[in-house]
Amino acid sequence: MTQRLTSFKMPPGQPEKKTILILVALTAVLLTILLVLFYIVPYYGFSRIHAGLPIVMGVLVAAVGGFVVLSLVLLMVVFIVGHDVPFSKKLRSIAVKGLLPTLTVVGKLIGLRKEEVQHAFVAVNNELVMAQCRNGHPPRNVLLLMPHCLQNADCPVKITYRVENCKRCGKCRIKDLLDLSEKYGVSLAVATGGTIARRIVIEKRPDLIIAVACERDLTSGIQDTTPLPVYGIFNQRPFGPCLNTQVAMDQVESILKEVMEINREKS
Ligand code: SF4
Repeated sequence: MTQRLTSFKMPPGQPEKKTILILVALTAVLLTILLVLFYIVPYYGFSRIHAGLPIVMGVLVAAVGGFVVLSLVLLMVVFIVGHDVPFSKKLRSIAVKGLLPTLTVVGKLIGLRKEEVQHAFVAVNNELVMAQCRNGHPPRNVLLLMPHCLQNADCPVKITYRVENCKRCGKCRIKDLLDLSEKYGVSLAVATGGTIARRIVIEKRPDLIIAVACERDLTSGIQDTTPLPVYGIFNQRPFGPCLNTQVAMDQVESILKEVMEINREKS
């Protein structure tokens, strides 16, 4: 099998930004309508139970609605300006756990593919992670977590438990990733699945994970690992799923550079 190791680049522009803004605005509108209906429909029932109940329920519904809309607005502020906001750590946890399922449903309503929603979700997550790094605790201990499918399928070397076993022949990106990990002084690990990835994370106890994976694994990994910050980068699959996959090295290096810069500024 001949594998062309061309340098893969991100597509120009940021379509995720437009997608997420549309999705979040629509989610805010739909949730507001749902909350209003939740209040109006049983309104007369409330007054029959107790004269003061409609007011109590009105206050409750307004509080929940206000909290949801404020969270969505804060999320968008971080996403657009890339700056941290109060409670951003909590906000990221809520967003990571609750946003993807909600956005997937809303995305379906407007005919978006699941992958488009997943890309938008990871874009928001990445902005929140970087905002947190810039304005919070600097990430000293960084882990590059790679999927096993990046390794050349014909390579006989076992790298999952010890990536340093790689002979650096250059037939796959593992060599370049090892070079990067040494250049920037960060850990590199390769996982064959979620269980091993979790074990690596427990062992290494990183402050920040830069993870490469497909849409499904990356979104579930980000959700599983929260509140630990995971910066996600999608792999590329020129030979189909799980075979000799690729990663945009310039994207990995640019995040590493940014993280090192943050660490320098904060030291
Ligand atoms: S770079 Fe390392 S992992 Fe990749 S094919 Fe060569 S020896 Fe195997």
